[in-house]
Amino acid sequence: MPHLAFDIAFDNTYVRELVGLYTAARPAAAPAPGLLFLNRGLADELGLDADMLAAPEGVAFLAGNTLPEGAQPIAQVYAGHQFGGFSPQLGDGRALLLGEVIDRQGHRRDIAFKGSGRTPYSRGGDGKAAVGPMLREVLIGEAMHALGIPSTRALAVAATGEMVRRDTPLPGAILTRVAASHLRVGTFQFFAARGEIDKLRTLAEYAIARHDPALAGTPGRHLALLGAVARRQAVLVAQWMNVGFIHGVMNTDNMTISGETIDYGPCAFMEAYDAATVFSSIDHGGRYAYGNQPHIARWNLARLAEALLPLMVEGDDEAAVRQAVAEVTAVIDAFPQWYAEALLRGQRAKLGLQLTQASLDADDTALADDWLALLQQGGVDFTLAWRRLSDAAAGDANPLRALFPDPSPLNAWLGRWQARCDREDAGQGGSRDGDRDGEPEGVQGTGPDRAARMRRVNPWIIPRNHRVEEALASASAQGDIRAFDDLLAALRRPYDEDPALARYAEPAPAQLAAGYQTFCGT
Ligand code: AMP
Ligand code: MG
Repeated sequence: MPHLAFDIAFDNTYVRELVGLYTAARPAAAPAPGLLFLNRGLADELGLDADMLAAPEGVAFLAGNTLPEGAQPIAQVYAGHQFGGFSPQLGDGRALLLGEVIDRQGHRRDIAFKGSGRTPYSRGGDGKAAVGPMLREVLIGEAMHALGIPSTRALAVAATGEMVRRDTPLPGAILTRVAASHLRVGTFQFFAARGEIDKLRTLAEYAIARHDPALAGTPGRHLALLGAVARRQAVLVAQWMNVGFIHGVMNTDNMTISGETIDYGPCAFMEAYDAATVFSSIDHGGRYAYGNQPHIARWNLARLAEALLPLMVEGDDEAAVRQAVAEVTAVIDAFPQWYAEALLRGQRAKLGLQLTQASLDADDTALADDWLALLQQGGVDFTLAWRRLSDAAAGDANPLRALFPDPSPLNAWLGRWQARCDREDAGQGGSRDGDRDGEPEGVQGTGPDRAARMRRVNPWIIPRNHRVEEALASASAQGDIRAFDDLLAALRRPYDEDPALARYAEPAPAQLAAGYQTFCGT
């Protein structure tokens, strides 16, 4: 395979340090490469020349036809619990890790292809991907990023010029994905299940060095790694819940060690609040329903705990085993509390409450829960309700009331919320710090301040399912990516209430929302 004239400064630790934990593979040839999407901002973060990537040579690379020098494409192997059942071997069946780069901030990032053809782990699949699902990954991933939620990101999508066989033939594409790493819970499960303890240990040391370097060489590092992953996932899933994100396929192979959201398949954002919301066409039992996500995260972490246990006990001394099991169990049992704290932190910000110690209030959980119960009861749009609560903070509760079929229970709740805000404002008056000293008595914590704060955390624009589908349909069927570009631009400014973007903020018509289903895109 010819090499590119321009260089990417790869430094491939996975290939170097994890020999035996992957298989080298090559991308398939693309008959007619074409650039559909290039993330210039991300290219810049990575220190890559976006113009080079957009030039024909760059596009040939992004379609898998040429590789920059230093790329060492490999398929990673992993296992995973899929919908609760264990698959002992999954692995990159349609993905390839090209290598790692150090970004401008000094962080190591994986650059990988998705949809680049068959690998030894493809099983029955073709290793390919279609334009629609790859552009969908761009939209949702960039929306998550703009919302401040850790996520793998798309650097580019290149059309291959080839049709891929699905229910109907679809235009093919390759997505170039950037991730803090592609280590998953399932990566550990693979080696643990095979009893390959040396490899498991090598993997754990690698993960620690990469994601939790402060733990390197410490005696309790495997337990601490579990704790660190659990804390990251607690924070991540809390962030998902606070924007109404439903991952859709939280299998253990789709849960990262880094704490980034990965694998945008059947994911979607909830519109009308309902904790039982499921979009995925294959999630018949609702295992990955919105409200189940924190439980599933914990369940997945228990699987990681099991996989790490062999590293925590030398030999099979029974007392030592019992001790290790008790220690990992304590971490898994702590997860709900970590999650609840992270969720409440986010909810308090969304409610316009300050996060200072002085204003902690034991009733805040109830205030947030009762708000959600109101949304559930009224079938109210989750995103708009929070956004309009910001207007209520600014003094006008009518737009919020208008979202509810019956505003009377809301009015009672608004009274409690207002009282809570007043209490906080009064409390702040009592413990003023330096930068508030110049303010006259009685105006601290004013409505406009609170409303402005709330509008920085309660998005106006999320990737609404009907807008996503509309953009993808014209990109996939007509090769027209204008709707995709416009939607992407809107998703990158989720907190800007610009009237020109109003069409992206409106909920889907009820008849569309009712039957909405997503697919894995495999
Ligand atoms: P996912 O549901 O996307 O997390 O994928 C689960 C497993 O199926 C992973 O091992 C993927 O690599 C594999 N897979 C998904 N789609 C394909 C495909 N088109 N060809 C080969 N393998 C695939
Ligand atoms: Mg996956």
